[in-house]
Amino acid sequence: MEKWSKRLVFMFFCLSVCIQIPYVSSSTAPLQGNQGNKESSAARTFKLEDAHVVRCSRERSRAAWKVIEEYLMPFVEQERYKISSGCRLHPDNDLYRDQEQHKHHVDINEWRCGYCRKNFYEEKYLDKHFDNRHFDLLNTSHSRCLADLCGALHCDLVMDSSLHKTKCNPAAAARNEHLCESLADSCFPVSKGPVTGRLHEFFLRQFCDAHTCSGGPKPFPKGQKKRTSMLYISLSILTLMLLPLFYFFIYLYQRGIKSGSQELKRISLSGRKKKSF
Ligand SMILES: [Zn+2]
Repeated sequence: MEKWSKRLVFMFFCLSVCIQIPYVSSSTAPLQGNQGNKESSAARTFKLEDAHVVRCSRERSRAAWKVIEEYLMPFVEQERYKISSGCRLHPDNDLYRDQEQHKHHVDINEWRCGYCRKNFYEEKYLDKHFDNRHFDLLNTSHSRCLADLCGALHCDLVMDSSLHKTKCNPAAAARNEHLCESLADSCFPVSKGPVTGRLHEFFLRQFCDAHTCSGGPKPFPKGQKKRTSMLYISLSILTLMLLPLFYFFIYLYQRGIKSGSQELKRISLSGRKKKSF
């Protein structure tokens, strides 16, 4: 009888274990559910981050700024004219201007974030850092995408993509010409005076005339002018000041060597004379 009771207990134990196995395996189900929750929350945060994605190319905005700075601003400054903030070419209308100004190229392989002093090997990583960490600093409330003006400003010519020339599209050329002329009208209104009249004319020749597929004039016929920075000027002056000093020290050094060798000769000669006695 005892044997039977032991067997019964053992069978009961086995049964309970067998029942437990599916229970354990089902207990993993909530875990999977949690993972699913995690995934869905990750997707949600991605969607949230996606909401911060700015639909404005940083690279093309940079190219547009380069064109403005090199092919337009020197001529505008020459006329002592200040572009109004209503003009889309004004620095305030570049979404990325503040971030670009907080970009420090410390060394060949060192780019520093001006907001948090973090260093990066390449500019593109700093760009990504700006996108991920400092997107809140972008004021996206107004449409201030400089890249939108690339068609009018011939950005491709200052970008690497200029190597892959595409066939001229008459419709796109007409669109770009229209955008270009509207920029000339809004930024340099002829009615404002002779200065804006001259700049209006200049803008049409420099940027707008080339928007044609019939082999018209090339973009930027008036050329470019690089603004000489104050650092460049001060370095040049410093070099000019230090150069005579450098030659003076070389002269003194060579003179010192000569007089030293003459002294040695004199000593060795007097030594020989003493020996001959
Ligand atoms: Zn930073």
